[in-house]
Amino acid sequence: MSKRTRVLRVDPVAPDADAIALAGRTIRAGGLVAFPTETVYGLGANALDEAAIAKIFAAKGRPASDPLIVHIARLEQLSQVAHAIPSEAFALCRRFWPGPLTLVLQKAQGIPANLTASLNTVAVRMPDHEVALALLRSADLPIAAPSANQFSRPSPTSAQHVIDDLADRVDVVLDGGNTPIGLESTIVSLIEDPPCVLRPGGISLETLREALPNLRYEPSYLAEDVMIAPAPGTMLRHYSPRARVILYTGDDDAEVYAAMRAEINSHERVGILACDADALEFAELDVAIERLGADADEAARRLFAALRSLDQQGVDCILARAPEKRGLGLALWDRLLRAAVGSLIKVQAAPSD
Ligand code: AMP
Ligand code: MG
Repeated sequence: MSKRTRVLRVDPVAPDADAIALAGRTIRAGGLVAFPTETVYGLGANALDEAAIAKIFAAKGRPASDPLIVHIARLEQLSQVAHAIPSEAFALCRRFWPGPLTLVLQKAQGIPANLTASLNTVAVRMPDHEVALALLRSADLPIAAPSANQFSRPSPTSAQHVIDDLADRVDVVLDGGNTPIGLESTIVSLIEDPPCVLRPGGISLETLREALPNLRYEPSYLAEDVMIAPAPGTMLRHYSPRARVILYTGDDDAEVYAAMRAEINSHERVGILACDADALEFAELDVAIERLGADADEAARRLFAALRSLDQQGVDCILARAPEKRGLGLALWDRLLRAAVGSLIKVQAAPSD
């Protein structure tokens, strides 16, 4: 670890006040602080300071065309960030904040152009994590914070992932342990009518539709398995490990396993990403297996760490089975398809006689 970065361990539920105060001062002085949220680690800077925001883009190697999400700790801060806020936004905030829901709204005047990639809209959320909230209160500013990874690498779910990617490019890392959800927030645009999901994430569509029955989600890849970018920055190659990823879909377990096994021989060293039940199928083979657990919640928590771990094990290809597109499974599907850069194999059951 370099001299420049201070890594401070904090209790995720009751963070140490001195550590938070130091991190808050760092934000106010225009520095960069990486901190845990309930989704993934964020790389934070003062959202009202153009020069501080420029440091985020530089540290991550993020293209200037990819806008950031602003984090707030109190509803009153919303007017510092957004204006002409529709009443449905307040209804969503009351129900889902703090939590993994990001809203796209008209941007307020004080928000620098580089934060929003020159758009006249802004993305904002209130994170549900005591460390993030304590930092926001201490800095007493809205904090712009994209995921604290190198651009296009899997998002960080631990402080070690942040250090691995950003080493001496960040002033303070608040280490609050592993992030509880493990996938990024759901992004909903209230600019469009009806409102529209730009990125599936930590809050499921099913839950959101209880509050917003007319919520749309129509990325072409769900129908066609071809990607277009529904939001700036959601281009296809994202969340990618270094190894090539191939994603398999299909209802017939035996046929899917057979297709995956057939692929194994054509690579030097293969990694398998699988739920616990599927993992048993590959246990006897010479492959690196990362188990994603028993359900979508567990898979969400483990996915990004598993992709990083397979990279570290030097695999040249990662085979994964696509999850069901329900609940958190939809966000998992989205991240896996991006990691696979569209390499999706649909396995058809063999016709029975
Ligand atoms: P990250 O914080 O790294 O998870 O990325 C933030 C993402 O939020 C961006 O990549 C965009 O897809 C989305 N986003 C941020 N601001 C806007 C905006 N004004 N309009 C639409 N999408 C946005
Ligand atoms: Mg990101």
